[in-house]
Amino acid sequence: MSHLMNTYARLPIAFTRGEGVWLWDEAGRRYLDALAGIAVNGLGHAHPRLVKAIADQAGQLIHTSNIYRVLRQEQLADRLCALSGMAQAFFCSSGAEANEAAIKLARLYGHQRGVEIPTIIVMEKAWHGRTIATLSATGSRKAQAGFEPLVAGFVRVPYNDLDAVRAVAEHHRNIVAVLLEPIQGEGGINVADVAYQQGLYALCRERGWLYMLDEVQSGIGRTGSWFAFEHAGVKPDVMALAKGLGSGVPIGACLANGAAADVFKPGNHGTTFGGGPLVCAAALATLDIMVDEGLLANAARQGARLKSALEAGLSGVAGVVEIRGQGLMLGIELDRPCGEIVKQALEQSLLVNVTSDNVVRLLPPLILEDAHTDEIVAILVPIIKRFLGA
Ligand SMILES: *Cc1c(COP(=O)(O)O)cnc(C)c1O
Repeated sequence: MSHLMNTYARLPIAFTRGEGVWLWDEAGRRYLDALAGIAVNGLGHAHPRLVKAIADQAGQLIHTSNIYRVLRQEQLADRLCALSGMAQAFFCSSGAEANEAAIKLARLYGHQRGVEIPTIIVMEKAWHGRTIATLSATGSRKAQAGFEPLVAGFVRVPYNDLDAVRAVAEHHRNIVAVLLEPIQGEGGINVADVAYQQGLYALCRERGWLYMLDEVQSGIGRTGSWFAFEHAGVKPDVMALAKGLGSGVPIGACLANGAAADVFKPGNHGTTFGGGPLVCAAALATLDIMVDEGLLANAARQGARLKSALEAGLSGVAGVVEIRGQGLMLGIELDRPCGEIVKQALEQSLLVNVTSDNVVRLLPPLILEDAHTDEIVAILVPIIKRFLGA
């Protein structure tokens, strides 16, 4: 422990084994995982088909290089483009890198059109990663503080406020793209209105800007559809994916469509590990299993069930501001900081998270069943009530 760099205030617990929605600690105690490694383990833990796909691929080929064709990578690109309606994919190893690719793509797109200082509109409370460029795009002063100078080329506006974007459009001649989480994750499970997404898309078309979505957390079935943008019916020009894509192996993707698909040329972007056979096999297996097990419909159904049970259990409780989200990406906003709830849930063998100081966040595996949903509610509602003194 003492030799780990001090980047996380970790809970004093280590898991040694998992199966489905369950994790076991060193002492053999069992926990219900309602966080799924922060929206990563959509298939739960140790899914046998995923384990086999990874083991088989490891026995065949783990890594070659992007200086050669990588067949699994080509298959995964085909698959993701078929699911999303996008045209091309670039693979990397994290969400931050997927957004880095999007940011670089937007800048190059701008330069190719004669924009000297290409500038991207980003949102308050946005979370795009911890590399210097994605940190600069992120809307958290807490995450940015101490790492100045930040990267230039971003203009920040309030989330869900189309007029604010229109105002920027009037005064800035260098805008080339908008970068949006259709549902903000780290920012507190804030859902962009459908009309806002459609208006933003229309504005992007009108101005020749790229409409770029960060679906690192909301993508890959989390909200009950493959991608959150489907709920608004407007397809992005660029989309970043990661978390749920590889079920725990590090893989990210930047997908592009239309004019954005023709921007990069050989030499513009790349990465050693990106899209290797092992991680692509894991992602392909993830997508197959999601289809075969009907996990999109399950995420939609269990998400609705969980949300309405939380609403019923917490209705009229003073201090509960709002319960919001879509599918299995849910947040319970309280009127005060509530980090304590994480520890209280842990004591009762339930894993949840608090984000943005006062939002209890639930991101359970997409394989959740009725009994698991009921158990989350049965544990969490009394904890929240007690916490609020209700
Ligand atoms: C987690 C997250 C990221 C960063 O992904 P990393 O894999 O941690 O780099 C970016 N955007 C969103 C929306 C995220 O939730």
